[in-house]
Amino acid sequence: MQPSLPKFSAYTADRFRKTPYWDRLSEEYRRVFDVTTQVLPFRVNDFVLEHLIDWDRGVDDAMFRLLFPQHGMLSDDQFDRVARAIGAGGAALRGTIYEVRCELNPHPAGQLTKNIQAFQNKRLEGVQHKYDETVLFFPSAGQTCHAYCSFCFRWPQFVGEAEWKIQTRECEQLVSYLKTYPHVTDVLITGGDPMIMNTKSLRRYIEAFLTVDTLRTIRIGTKALSYWPARFLDDDDLMPLFEQVIESGKHLAFMAHLNHWRELEPPLVRDAIRRVRNTGAVIRTQAPLLRNVNNDADVWARLWTTSVQLGMTPYYMFVERDTGPSGYFRVPLIQAWEIYSDAIRGVSGLSRTARGPVMSTDQGKVCVDGVMSIEGSKALSLRFLQARDNRHVGQPFLAEYNEAAAWLDELRPYRSNKFWFEPDTQDTTADLGEELLVS
Ligand code: SF4
Repeated sequence: MQPSLPKFSAYTADRFRKTPYWDRLSEEYRRVFDVTTQVLPFRVNDFVLEHLIDWDRGVDDAMFRLLFPQHGMLSDDQFDRVARAIGAGGAALRGTIYEVRCELNPHPAGQLTKNIQAFQNKRLEGVQHKYDETVLFFPSAGQTCHAYCSFCFRWPQFVGEAEWKIQTRECEQLVSYLKTYPHVTDVLITGGDPMIMNTKSLRRYIEAFLTVDTLRTIRIGTKALSYWPARFLDDDDLMPLFEQVIESGKHLAFMAHLNHWRELEPPLVRDAIRRVRNTGAVIRTQAPLLRNVNNDADVWARLWTTSVQLGMTPYYMFVERDTGPSGYFRVPLIQAWEIYSDAIRGVSGLSRTARGPVMSTDQGKVCVDGVMSIEGSKALSLRFLQARDNRHVGQPFLAEYNEAAAWLDELRPYRSNKFWFEPDTQDTTADLGEELLVS
């Protein structure tokens, strides 16, 4: 254990207003903060406030925008409705907040319908199974984070709407499921951030997964390396747990959320990365491309180069999902591809493991491969990296050139009425859970 590591202390909107940082913000910004945090989750901690944000740049700082609400995350109409409702308070305010949250597409890409499975005549709680080989597990104790990202597509997990939350306390049902379906090789423990759990809870889940012989990889989705690196430095039981996974013969993969190279600058972050890597775990880095935060090829090139220098593997550049405040962060697909291409040209081959820009759509992970010319007309070339229907993995397709489109459903098929993967009738995969219920 390192001496004199800070103690974790989180600040909600109310607590943050009592810190000295509040005094540095303008009246105008405080109003944006007060209204927007009624709808979207907010949470910061001492580490991100002191070590990640450049307070001299204030609201113009990329890390500030990554952590704090901004004007434009709600539409003008939504903002005004919430502002008026704050005056009314009580049930009127609660009703308006719920209404606006519903307008923000809280569960995109079939998350609460198509990704939920049933097993042995019961709903598989706290689990999403979209791709054949990988299952997502949402432990209740991991459904918060050390700080919240302003863009986060998991925001419905954090706003206290119970029926929107995907979570479970138990993993016995999942372990039985995994033993029944040996084609599932990977479990991703996700949230929120599983590293918010204490080591005892994390150990309970990990040791249960170690009993599944057919499981090859345990993945942990986390941003704690940059939002609370002390988590990896102040607990003498944590590294032995990671080592136990490696010694069992399974792969331990950290899917690290890293949006900007500045997150990798603090010495404590580098210490945490080194400590995790020393256990034999592999850290892969991924993040969405966000307007106003990291929509700059140089930022990505430096992020990937620094990641490789620190022993991590660049994995994904995502397109921001169509949920929550996505309008504020939206980068059109062709611009996203240009940023990705410029960044990838600026790094060595070892950093070119990053795939992107990738949309996590209802049908699967779709990569924008580029713009091509066919008989004098432009088309967008795309490809499934992952697919709900495994037969689609690796399959390419073309869309009409469209400089404004920022998501798959805004694209038109190239010289066709529909994309080849679109069903003629109702999508039968939507009924999979019901089929399992009666089998
Ligand atoms: S740490 Fe991950 S889950 Fe938590 S708010 Fe940020 S992106 Fe979302």
